[in-house]
Amino acid sequence: MNNKETGITYTPKGIALAVTYACPSMCDHCNIRFNEIDTAEEITADTARRLLGEAKAAGLHAFQIVGGEPTLKPETFVEIVREGRRLSMKCHRPPTNCRIARDEAALRSFFSSLSDAGFSAGFRISVDHFHRRIPLEYTAGFIFAAADYFNLKRFAIGCCDIDEDRSRRMLDNLCRLLCAKGFESRVGGNMLETPAGRIKIGFWAPTRPTWKQLPDSEFLLKKVSLSVPDKPRWGRRDDIAPFGCLGPKGVGYLWVEPSGAVRACCGNACQFIDALVIGNIYDETLGEMIDRARGSELMDALAAGGPVEAALRAGTLDALEKTYTHRCDLCHAVLNDSRTAARFNTP
Ligand code: SF4
Ligand code: SF4
Repeated sequence: MNNKETGITYTPKGIALAVTYACPSMCDHCNIRFNEIDTAEEITADTARRLLGEAKAAGLHAFQIVGGEPTLKPETFVEIVREGRRLSMKCHRPPTNCRIARDEAALRSFFSSLSDAGFSAGFRISVDHFHRRIPLEYTAGFIFAAADYFNLKRFAIGCCDIDEDRSRRMLDNLCRLLCAKGFESRVGGNMLETPAGRIKIGFWAPTRPTWKQLPDSEFLLKKVSLSVPDKPRWGRRDDIAPFGCLGPKGVGYLWVEPSGAVRACCGNACQFIDALVIGNIYDETLGEMIDRARGSELMDALAAGGPVEAALRAGTLDALEKTYTHRCDLCHAVLNDSRTAARFNTP
């Protein structure tokens, strides 16, 4: 069945600005190709302002600031928040590894400017054993200082590790560090309870592809299912089922790289799939790219049923019989298959 029959088409909802791909942590499980990219490239504040205007004009009403580590560019970060607010766009929680907290004065200056710019989205803080270069003291310092500027209820913590117990031990250590600052905190279930609000905690396993080869023992492998669930399920052990990533039900964020390349999604593997590149911000407007992508059969297949649908239309059924770490890992296998490229006429 094609999209003329289903009526489902590519529907981006927001824009993710990767202001830099630099990140001092360089975690082994990261989906950024540190070994292949130029981490000196960045999206400047002027360019970001233009892009937000173009996004708004194209009907996208939400934005994210991502990386790399986006707080490495604090001035750009604040300018994006300010412009997004001026345009009445919703800011989604940006990710951070909290390294900025190694310098408390710089951290508080950043928080103060963000607060003045009207920032209230909170942060997605990552806590996991892959952050070998980011000590937990930075995470504790970040949370402790943030409580003076923001409502911590908007914050979230993400722990990426196949071993949830190891993550919980790290969280207990984080609480000890916070308590030592007089900020009594504890982990209760999937919440970090603090005097300034409860922070939700999520646990998940690493996904492929990563910038480094990791052993299979670091991953949870999932099967692919062809049955369409009533509601998509994202649990650690749920099968990968058909789901329209780029359609009206999916996230469908445009992902703008520091190089200016625009990818049609913010999925874990998007940087490993050149078929998802729909243009470059230095050549044309976002609206022009979106209009062109809407006519693409591949984008419409992903909008209708994600990589499962793309595999069915391309006839790469053998890919559906293997196991994967995540939907985007399957997408990487399907979209980088020469049969899929031939079927959809993509790179
Ligand atoms: S902290 Fe995040 S962006 Fe940085 S290397 Fe680790 S996973 Fe990647
Ligand atoms: S499965 Fe593919 S299209 Fe969907 S979010 Fe992942 S990389 Fe993007």
